[in-house]
Amino acid sequence: MTRVNPELAKELEKFGAKSATVCFNCGNCTAVCPLSNNSTPFPRRIIRYLQLGLEERLLGRMEPWLCYYCGECSQTCPRQADPGELMMATRRYLTTRYDWTGLSKRLYTSKVWEVFCVGILFFATLAVIYLFHGPIVTDHTKLETFAPADIVHPTGYVFGAVLAFFLLSNVYRMHKFIMRSGERVNAPLSLYFSELGTLAVHFATQAKLRLCTNKSFWIKHWLLMSGYTAAFILVNVDLVTRWSLTDSPPPAWHPAKILWTYATIAMLYATTVAIIGRLRKREPIHKYSHSTDWMFLILLWFTVFTGLLVRIFMQFDLPLPTYYTFAVHLALAVPLLGLEVPFTKWSHLAYRPFALYFERVRERALQLQQPPQEEEA
Ligand code: SF4
Ligand code: SF4
Repeated sequence: MTRVNPELAKELEKFGAKSATVCFNCGNCTAVCPLSNNSTPFPRRIIRYLQLGLEERLLGRMEPWLCYYCGECSQTCPRQADPGELMMATRRYLTTRYDWTGLSKRLYTSKVWEVFCVGILFFATLAVIYLFHGPIVTDHTKLETFAPADIVHPTGYVFGAVLAFFLLSNVYRMHKFIMRSGERVNAPLSLYFSELGTLAVHFATQAKLRLCTNKSFWIKHWLLMSGYTAAFILVNVDLVTRWSLTDSPPPAWHPAKILWTYATIAMLYATTVAIIGRLRKREPIHKYSHSTDWMFLILLWFTVFTGLLVRIFMQFDLPLPTYYTFAVHLALAVPLLGLEVPFTKWSHLAYRPFALYFERVRERALQLQQPPQEEEA
């Protein structure tokens, strides 16, 4: 039996889907979408679910994660329903439904909550640094003395484990919604292993976005994603190699430094272009900005920029600017990672490849469930 939620379209309005009701289902958007295909047609079908209140079907669909918001559909909609933004709003809504803590919904629907949570984490991080920092050496820059690696690293690992727990538990809920939609599927564990390549390929390449007509979207998206992944890896290998939080920084040609420079340039470039685009509002994808879009871009830009400043101050042996900027850098990184990764904008980094992965597992499992065809006599 299909249950209908008559309030669904109204609920989606809180996430930015203000024009679902003006769509008259002509299908132009699906026809022009370069990422839509016969087996997963969108965005028209998703908009139809919103209009009809088919909440459970919407929860089980992976199409919202297949849309990379190139905006081509919004340019051709005869009703100015902005289907690209409707898909974006649906992703925000789905993110809150995957999240079992309820924090995601508060962050997406209340600016007060958003600013309050970012502010609390920012000032709490500064307070922790103020209370637990090491000796402040002022004749030379001694970052490891100010921020002892044997305190910073374990704290970072505990923080990372907490974030991973929240994100992966939300991914698990997404998995349940997708597997339960339509025909029930019991996928054998072996399929999850054999299809891991799908997850890795889509995470590393963002290959679907290359199908969009404007290839610059893919380049910018990939720069941001690869820069973030490189920075994430470097922070983690720092525990072993001690290349970053050290009183004697390695030379500029050190591989970790080269990779760090790449990550910094890639992320600064991609976020600066995105901020300018959202201020100018010339492209359909930049016409409407949710408060969480701005919060994400501002936190990311300032986190990367303060990280760059720390390197510059260290290079010029400026002790106090190095320590203070490092404290601000951490105070920005904590709300960026603590809120954006498991609960809001940046969670799509996991949801997109996982949606494709689960759908692939589901398809293969359905094929296995098909009864064998009888041979013709
Ligand atoms: S969103 Fe616009 S283009 Fe798409 S089906 Fe509705 S009216 Fe047609
Ligand atoms: S924004 Fe682009 S990818 Fe998303 S539905 Fe529209 S045309 Fe397709």
